[in-house]
Amino acid sequence: MREALDPGSLIALEDRYGARNYAPLDVVLCRGEGVWVWDLDGRCYLDCLSAYSAVNQGHCHPRILSALTQQAARLTLTGRAFRNDQLGLFYQDLAELTGSTRVLPMNSGAEAVESALKVARKWAYRHRGVPENQAEIIVCADNFHGRTLSIVSFSTDDDSRHEFGPFTPGFRVVPFGDAAAMEAAISPNTAAVLLEPIQGEAGVIIPPDGYLRAVRRLCTQNNVLMVLDEIQTGLGRTGRLLAEEHEGVEADMTLIGKALGGGFYPVSAVLSNNEALGTLRPGEHGSTFGGNPLACAVARTALRVLVEEDMIGNADRVGTHLLQALRSADLPGVRDLRGRGLMLAVELDPALGGARRFVEALRDVGLLCKDTHHHTIRLSPPLVLTMAEADWLADQFGSVIRALA
Ligand SMILES: *Cc1c(COP(=O)(O)O)cnc(C)c1O
Repeated sequence: MREALDPGSLIALEDRYGARNYAPLDVVLCRGEGVWVWDLDGRCYLDCLSAYSAVNQGHCHPRILSALTQQAARLTLTGRAFRNDQLGLFYQDLAELTGSTRVLPMNSGAEAVESALKVARKWAYRHRGVPENQAEIIVCADNFHGRTLSIVSFSTDDDSRHEFGPFTPGFRVVPFGDAAAMEAAISPNTAAVLLEPIQGEAGVIIPPDGYLRAVRRLCTQNNVLMVLDEIQTGLGRTGRLLAEEHEGVEADMTLIGKALGGGFYPVSAVLSNNEALGTLRPGEHGSTFGGNPLACAVARTALRVLVEEDMIGNADRVGTHLLQALRSADLPGVRDLRGRGLMLAVELDPALGGARRFVEALRDVGLLCKDTHHHTIRLSPPLVLTMAEADWLADQFGSVIRALA
């Protein structure tokens, strides 16, 4: 095997041998600590994406690293045919922290979504009297719930669907933020509604105040499950443990993932507050890696660190400060600035010709950001960002927008 370590050669290897399903910025990272990452040339950047919120606890958190290495040296995988000494503790920690009654452990976020769709259908046949194979699930336009075939079946993004059909039936799409449209779509065959409390990939779209409460009311009145995908919004990102807390509602099923693995390991889960998960019987659903002891040990520590190091409160305080700093900078070419906690987005005027050249310039001043939907730049740094780092971020960001807008 030849070793090529310079950035240009490594990028060429990716292009030569990899599936080209991403268009990454040309920065080759090799080290991370807290909010900072370093490239092969030793340049340092503030990570403003946090691996789409999978690294809320910051890169290479020492306590999570230690939990990982200790558990990896003891026992990593048994399959669910046998029990392991970490799973029950993981269930207990997660259920108590989130006020849930049952937990289904999976690995990726998409698997948690798929699992919830299956559970919602089974629940509807057993408990709502929906005729078999007729269950419908209501979803929102511009959703992002992952990349499997069933999930892209109800995506409204053309790139996600084009030439991937035929698609899974049984979904109805309504506009996000419109409770009346949701109400009109509910039928005797509706099993569940599935939505993000704040649409992340769509560009940090925050629904009108009262929307989640209205959806909760509709679901209760019509005996329909409310399923919230908190894979991105959950675990502190919006300044609350779960984003549903902003409206004081509780979903029937809540999906979490990403930061549940602390950036070290893929861990996701379906949380349930009612009989939904109770409908599953042995053999009806499973995952070879779901609930493995390494995942459980990592996730328990990832949760403990979030709470004990007050990362959720920090996201609230520093996020509010960052949004305020960006707003008071009064930047040219900015059409909208929005956010909750450390989940922020800057929407540029389309006349500026797209966000990509801005994120490239931001990289050159030490900020790694992601453009989304052409005109929007997301800012979602790890939740350990300090006030001083937030000020630096706002300054650097402002200087680039001023120079290019
Ligand atoms: C990232 C994400 C998913 C999918 O998670 P994967 O781990 O990439 O499968 C699902 N829903 C939301 C809201 C997400 O942000």
